[in-house]
Amino acid sequence: MTDPVTPSTPARPKGPAGRLLALWFGTALWKRILLGLVLGVAAGLVLQERSADIKWLGDAFVRLIRMLVVPLVFVTIVAGVAAMAEPRRLGAIGLKTIGLYFGLMLIASALGLAIGTVLQPGLGVDLSAAVPVVTGAPPPPFAETLMNIIPLNPIAAMGSGDVLAVIFFALLLGIGILVVGAPADPLRRVFDAGSAVMLQITYFVMEMAPFGVFALIAWVTGTSGPAAFVSVFKLALCVVIGCAVQTLLVHGGLIRLLARLPVRPFFRDVTDAIVVAFTTSSSSATLPVAMRVAQRNLGISPTVASTTLPIGVTLSMDGTAMYVALLAMFAAQVFGVDLSMADYLMVILTTTLVAIGTAPVPSASLFILAAVLSVIGINAEQTALIVGFILPFDRPLDMMRTVPNCTSDLSVAVVVARSENELDVASYLARPVE
Ligand code: ASP
Repeated sequence: MTDPVTPSTPARPKGPAGRLLALWFGTALWKRILLGLVLGVAAGLVLQERSADIKWLGDAFVRLIRMLVVPLVFVTIVAGVAAMAEPRRLGAIGLKTIGLYFGLMLIASALGLAIGTVLQPGLGVDLSAAVPVVTGAPPPPFAETLMNIIPLNPIAAMGSGDVLAVIFFALLLGIGILVVGAPADPLRRVFDAGSAVMLQITYFVMEMAPFGVFALIAWVTGTSGPAAFVSVFKLALCVVIGCAVQTLLVHGGLIRLLARLPVRPFFRDVTDAIVVAFTTSSSSATLPVAMRVAQRNLGISPTVASTTLPIGVTLSMDGTAMYVALLAMFAAQVFGVDLSMADYLMVILTTTLVAIGTAPVPSASLFILAAVLSVIGINAEQTALIVGFILPFDRPLDMMRTVPNCTSDLSVAVVVARSENELDVASYLARPVE
């Protein structure tokens, strides 16, 4: 698959406007995105509630990147698999990827429990002012989720944005092209070109990121300012610590120990994806950016990037697992439920399983909470109270947990690529190109 080319610079106006444009486009994108973030906080503090008026700019950005998810996943997986020299390698890549994702989520759930046990965020919390919020039907049983991976109709799966089913069909199509060989070459070239074009569109859309990030951060800062945090301060602190440990130590450790690479270039290379995950609170919306940084900055081959990342976005949710396990501790402390060792293990296992089924969209954690809390005997009414208590503050907490959701995918992609000899180390170590 060809690497997307940076478009040739169009003629720019001369004079101060031209210089400003040259300065803007001459600055690395991740720096411009960080600038948007900082200015967004300032604008939110100044505008307060009125920051809601500019939220449309952030919404437009999120829509643009979400628009890319289904076509990008579809064409890049087909092209990635069809580019494989050995069909059997798909099995090795798949097993490593899923094993690592699963292991990381078990660690994340255990981390959430450990932080909740040590810091006790639920102690002394009074829920009497909370308005119960019912989060609807519990998620379907795990067996049903598995069965739904096989689409009845692949076109309908694309239409409804059912990413797991799209991945399944795309993998099969890629394998089909690979096995048919030379007669399927025209089709392989179509998908190759398609995936270069989709990555190029991602490049265009990312030029809007500094503005989208600015508006989203201004809105969050302006509407749920620091004052709102006093009552959930301890819980928020636990979430910050949990996300930081999972991202920096666990994912960083994975890079250091399993991929045997320095950690600093990893975090520098994935800054764009981290900021987009943080501001949009949606790992699904972050996927196109993650695909781009994986190939352009981390030096991961299209084959590994296009198989590990889309699977990771839908299955691997470290931040969510850490958060839900932490909330289980929180709820147990609020309602005075004593937990045995068996309860802890059940929470870790259930959290990991339901995190796999969590949608990669904002606030999705709260919809799966009931499934985990029921394991430790917390009933539906009590769960509704917990959700009602957290919901007003969920957005900033969601922003934080979406970061490890995204870095888990990227760190696993690096480890798998490295072990499969599909990582260009020079590109990994070099500074991002734009
Ligand atoms: N917002 C998270 C994500 O998109 C899911 C969640 O924990 O609510 O990854």
